[in-house]
Amino acid sequence: MPEEIRVRAPGGEETRAPVPVRREGGYAVFPAQALESLGWTLAREGDETTARWEGREPLVRVRSGSPLLLWAGEGVQLAHPTRRVEDHLYLPVQFLTDILPWKLPGVFSYDEAASTLTLASFGEGEGEGRGGTPVAGESERRVSVVVIDPGHGGRDPGAVGARGTREKDVALGIARALHRILSDEEDMEVYLTREDDRLIPLWRRGEEATRWKGERPGVFVSIHANALPNSRATRGFETYFLSEARTEHERRVAALENSAVEMEEAGTGPQGQDPDLSYILTELRNLDHQHWSALLAELMQEELARVHPGPNRGVKQGPFAVITNALMPSVLLEVGFITNPQEEQIMSQRSFQEDAARAAAQAIREFFRRYPPEGAGE
Ligand SMILES: [Zn+2]
Repeated sequence: MPEEIRVRAPGGEETRAPVPVRREGGYAVFPAQALESLGWTLAREGDETTARWEGREPLVRVRSGSPLLLWAGEGVQLAHPTRRVEDHLYLPVQFLTDILPWKLPGVFSYDEAASTLTLASFGEGEGEGRGGTPVAGESERRVSVVVIDPGHGGRDPGAVGARGTREKDVALGIARALHRILSDEEDMEVYLTREDDRLIPLWRRGEEATRWKGERPGVFVSIHANALPNSRATRGFETYFLSEARTEHERRVAALENSAVEMEEAGTGPQGQDPDLSYILTELRNLDHQHWSALLAELMQEELARVHPGPNRGVKQGPFAVITNALMPSVLLEVGFITNPQEEQIMSQRSFQEDAARAAAQAIREFFRRYPPEGAGE
């Protein structure tokens, strides 16, 4: 790791003071203040620091101690959290070496071999006329990303019905069908978090989804079957988005789905620490994803109601681990109760799985007609 990062204009002569780099908590950081010599204006309010670039609206918001930053309202995950040392905010050097060149490609580029950040002259030329359009001027065709997450897998069967139907198989059946249906859409890129019967750690699912999505608009759809062992009569479908649980039922379903974490091998999670859910929830509220997740959940219920015998149990909310770190509108479907004999039978049928997948596909298409809204950005 270099001791400093040099900063120069495209011509080659060094025009700005180098950015000092130091090691904190085992990784390389630089003082956020150094951004000021790169054309940024910083403002601090409590734990939060906002950064404007060349007089634009606040482009970047960071909090000390968080690995998430907001770039024009979109979440970006850093490799390490920011740090506050003696009341100065430090950011991982990744911000200079990767994020600036990625987010402002015409302006910043980084030469790793020379530890040099090149800073094009800015504030002139017809630039990226801002106003909400992404700075990167890529292709015209807008591609949306759909990440489909079949719940459970491998040695985690999920809930199991009286006749032996396993939640993980129902989830995979619907997910694969959904993947196949949406793969025909020209403007969608579709991913599965698992394609076969294997266990993927809950935390990794959202992380990968976030990586696949990149800067495109995207959604994350986790597919499950519900269980209520003491009530064989309970049936119907419900869709969750991430928030605090409000009812006993919501708490119970969230606890059930989150218990899969215990089946994961030690060391596969984020250093075995429990992520701070309340903190993540606050971040998500900032991201405005909750509003969109709720809409996606509405649409799912609406479409599923056309193919499902019911009842429609409505949109629900809860603290689901699997959707906490997918930084995009995310929902979790419970397509029926595997503990209800009729629903167990229905859910094991190929034809129902196809129908449910078609309904989910229609909800996703409908969602992307409204999302992202025109002029998104802040
Ligand atoms: Zn489940």
